Amino acid sequence: MSEREMVYEGANMAKADVVLRAKDLRKSFGGLVATDDASFAVERGSITGMVGPNGAGKSTLFNLVSGFYTPDGGSVSVNDTDVTGKPPHDVAREGLIRTFQTPRKLEGMTVREAMMVGATPQTGESILPLFLSPSTVTSEERANLDRAEQLLERFEIAHLIDEPSTDLSGGQLKLVELARGITTDPDILLLDEPVAGVNPTLANDIKRFIRELNEEGQTFLIIEHDMPFIMDLAEPIIVLDQGRVLMEGTPEEVRTDQRVIDAYLGGAEGGRPGSGGDE
Ligand code: ADP
Ligand code: MG
Repeated sequence: MSEREMVYEGANMAKADVVLRAKDLRKSFGGLVATDDASFAVERGSITGMVGPNGAGKSTLFNLVSGFYTPDGGSVSVNDTDVTGKPPHDVAREGLIRTFQTPRKLEGMTVREAMMVGATPQTGESILPLFLSPSTVTSEERANLDRAEQLLERFEIAHLIDEPSTDLSGGQLKLVELARGITTDPDILLLDEPVAGVNPTLANDIKRFIRELNEEGQTFLIIEHDMPFIMDLAEPIIVLDQGRVLMEGTPEEVRTDQRVIDAYLGGAEGGRPGSGGDE
């Protein structure tokens, strides 16, 4: 069947306590509609998954809700505050933090320095020169560093704190990203493919850490290409296809939905559920 005949059911918008709400988001790049009237809501306390074939628009949606892209239409709210069109540091201040599918350039930084860059979303990366001259480190920054160090210990990578971040494995970098994201205690943390390129042992550790943080109240929205990983970790799961929300459901509902199977079979790069990463 052609995807045009597919019934796009959309997401469940009827949730009691919503941290993040996207309504009718649109974004085009030239003639390509990457986000096509996408609406969804993330309930506080949940680990919400986001899946879809390569090119479905998952990363674009993250960029839109976190302020890295300005939508052509629609709205975004965090804790019922309208953040549409606001820059990333303003969205972060409202409580939304995201990680990147490909961890950002950390060249020349130790893990400690990389953690500090992530720990101060309100001032962004401009804080780094200040941090590097100890006399200007504020008490807030010191508190953030303490918290960052605790998180590295918790994630069992504290021994790496003085290492150049370029020496870290892909999985260790993903853990640093997770620690950076969590340092300022966001109301919602968005993870873009947290186990892409990560070995199975470390992927299991990452799953355990996410679960533990969630049990302590942390809300997550997670894009992940690794189907067994996300199906085991997240509920509900939102399925994107061609920039639109196809459906939302339990892992079991998603796994058995014929439209989801069709979407993956017809995906931009012929992807299928469980096939490897992108970018
Ligand atoms: P996913 O993360 O689901 O694989 P993306 O959001 O990365 O998908 O991409 C969705 C579509 O938008 C793709 O066709 C991609 O090529 C396009 N796209 C994403 N970002 C840009 C950009 N900055 N400029 C042009 N096209 C883009
Ligand atoms: Mg992506």
